[in-house]
Amino acid sequence: MQQPHQAPLPRWSAPPAVTASIGLHALAVGSAALAPETLWWALGGIGLNQLGLTAAGLWPRSRLLGPNWTRLPAAAAARRQFALTLDDGPDPEITPRVLDLLDRHRTRATFFCIAAHAQAQPVLLREIVARGHDVQNHSHSHRHHFALLGPGGLAREIDRAQQVLADLSGVKPHCFRAPAGLRNPFLDPVLHRHGLHLVSWTRRGFDTVSHDVQRVLGRLTHGMAAGDIVLLHDGHARRGRGGQPVVLEVLPRLLAHTAALGLHATTLRDALPPRGHDAH
Ligand SMILES: [Zn+2]
Repeated sequence: MQQPHQAPLPRWSAPPAVTASIGLHALAVGSAALAPETLWWALGGIGLNQLGLTAAGLWPRSRLLGPNWTRLPAAAAARRQFALTLDDGPDPEITPRVLDLLDRHRTRATFFCIAAHAQAQPVLLREIVARGHDVQNHSHSHRHHFALLGPGGLAREIDRAQQVLADLSGVKPHCFRAPAGLRNPFLDPVLHRHGLHLVSWTRRGFDTVSHDVQRVLGRLTHGMAAGDIVLLHDGHARRGRGGQPVVLEVLPRLLAHTAALGLHATTLRDALPPRGHDAH
């Protein structure tokens, strides 16, 4: 099995916003203990701080809760590369058609797979890898309340997915994308333990929500540039007015657009160094 992380990881250190929050909590407790009349100010400060951390977790492209790749590294952008990422598969109906489209356009993509779906479609998962694409971790069960899980719940979702995806594909994921991009301050230490990068996106099409092919395409192509990470879905796909999954109509047009811009698709495995060896 391929092991992307040869050197031991440096120790996890809390991001500045989390360190500041811990300090603020200590200050509030100390202040309320020494001067009880400040209790309401202390509680108010803690409440505002919690609101801030929650807001950061609900903002998928935020870096306040830890490192978060929203674009490829500068070296990949300089090579005029972009990354096409497809979430929520593998899906027995749509993923094979996506794979055929990618072959036709000689494009390699990164599939953020739900491990439970991979367990149900092991042959399809291996097919993704056999056709030159990259498989990464999108949690085990894609729980809707993922961002509300504590350290133990997050670890179970991520550990299990790492195990399943590595066993089935033969390659250990080194990137993680949170379900719906939502998370909380307990996530980064778990990702660090596995050497996983958190990867969100530069632009997304909302193709699981919108059935309007032109609008989905417009969201992806407007201002598109080298270094972009774009997000579509081969699972949970919305169907367009003609009954065709939106992703299958958007993908060829998107790839025609990237070709016209002179961009080349790369995978996250090729573009991102192992965690701990990157300059953020
Ligand atoms: Zn998802």
